[in-house]
Amino acid sequence: MTAPTTPTDSADTRPAPVISVIGTGYLGATHAAAMAEMGFETIGVDVDPAKLAALSAGEVPFYEPGLPELITKHVASGKLRFTADIASAVAAADVHFVCVGTPQRAGSHAANLSYVESATRGVAEHLTHPGLIVGKSTVPVGTAARLRGIVAEFTPAGIDAELVWNPEFLREGKAVEDTLHPDRLVWGGASPAADAVIREVYAAPIAEGTPVITTDLATAELVKVSANAFLATKISFINAISEMCTIAGADVSTLADALGHDVRIGRKFLNAGLGFGGGCLPKDIRALMHRANELGAGRVVGLMQQVDEINMGQRQRVIDMAIESAGGSVLNRRIAVVGAAFKPLTDDVRDSPALNVAAALHLRGAQVTLWDPEAMETARRSFPTLTYAESMTGAIEGADLVLVLTEWDEVVAADPAALAAVVGQRVVIDARNCLPVDRWVAAGWTVRSLGRPSPAVVPAASVAAGATDALAAAR
Ligand code: NAD
Repeated sequence: MTAPTTPTDSADTRPAPVISVIGTGYLGATHAAAMAEMGFETIGVDVDPAKLAALSAGEVPFYEPGLPELITKHVASGKLRFTADIASAVAAADVHFVCVGTPQRAGSHAANLSYVESATRGVAEHLTHPGLIVGKSTVPVGTAARLRGIVAEFTPAGIDAELVWNPEFLREGKAVEDTLHPDRLVWGGASPAADAVIREVYAAPIAEGTPVITTDLATAELVKVSANAFLATKISFINAISEMCTIAGADVSTLADALGHDVRIGRKFLNAGLGFGGGCLPKDIRALMHRANELGAGRVVGLMQQVDEINMGQRQRVIDMAIESAGGSVLNRRIAVVGAAFKPLTDDVRDSPALNVAAALHLRGAQVTLWDPEAMETARRSFPTLTYAESMTGAIEGADLVLVLTEWDEVVAADPAALAAVVGQRVVIDARNCLPVDRWVAAGWTVRSLGRPSPAVVPAASVAAGATDALAAAR
């Protein structure tokens, strides 16, 4: 392609590229805001009018720390705007980031690529001048090569267009920081001119020393999928080991701490518990499984199958533990569920293990009362039939059993003595191995978890005085 601009070099008088971002969900809204923060005029495009109205008003229709501030700042500065009109956005922009969803296809492990295809076509057919299309969505290997066919077919004659792939590694909950200061930048398939444009767009993080890996399209696509597959494998590995710990009476948390000191292993993603969920890891490993099967990479299929099965099995382990803790049946038992988001610092409940377990217990006749510091609305939309409490204490009040399913800081820091004073039965399943067990046990709780022995319960008499004090303190 012809580079629409070159880096902001005093010898060059051409203006900086204008950016369009197609799809303004978790990825696209963050990317658009970050582009504006890096100094580019940016136009976010979406097909969801409610999302666009919220974003245009500086409101973010999901919970992402720091993002509302950044969007408000740049909507006000005029650098960032949102529209449903892809034609006008594409006509105004030079670099077009494709950030639409690639969810799991219904009834299949494959990724649904219809949004990526339609967004790419939308950009191509509305190009009025040379354009660089930069795919950021997570896609199965081979997708970008196919999308190049769509670009070739739909770009108006005589207009120069190029498509490259630049996968995104941001973490929900830390999306702003990760986008402004990524730990690496990867793009594939770029011509020298396209490479120069991408380097201009990412000039700020590159100047900070962010490593840049440039490669071919297939490698760029596979880097992202492999990163998620590895993280998922690490979680399922420790969860498999946690089963051994349970049988052998060992403590998986101590074991993970000890493993984590080995720099070759690292401590992150070694928390045994309820397993992974969300809008990325589960669908990405399944899409990888599907694509590996198509390509005949049988080992990848087998490995990912195991990872997925171990992960889903953790949900069943927690459900079984709840039933056992409730004396063999949860029918009509009052169960408090603390946490609905798939992880802390997000309100995302897509494929959330927490919400899955809550719903499964509800289906078995339990009276489930749920609380989450941020994901109440998203959870309510998915499962309106559950009961929602206004606070953690409200959820726990009178409960026969408490399940901690998302490791929010405020849950970890909660006062177990105050909660002991309001709960019906002092039994908690710490499905994230996140609670300070000694404090909970000292407050009279029976703490059950995955892969950690249950400590002996403190005799009721020695707790009673403490609980009375705590009740007074809680009021
Ligand atoms: P999302 O569902 O939150 O957002 C997708 C957005 O695209 C929606 O707002 C939807 O309305 C919009 N859209 C769909 N078709 C469109 C079209 N033709 N034109 C314009 N807008 C359209 O999804 P997300 O979580 O932001 O994920 C997007 C992609 O990024 C996925 O491939 C995902 O795997 C990848 N990704 C996500 C994360 C994350 O943490 N969420 C991190 C890295 C990569």
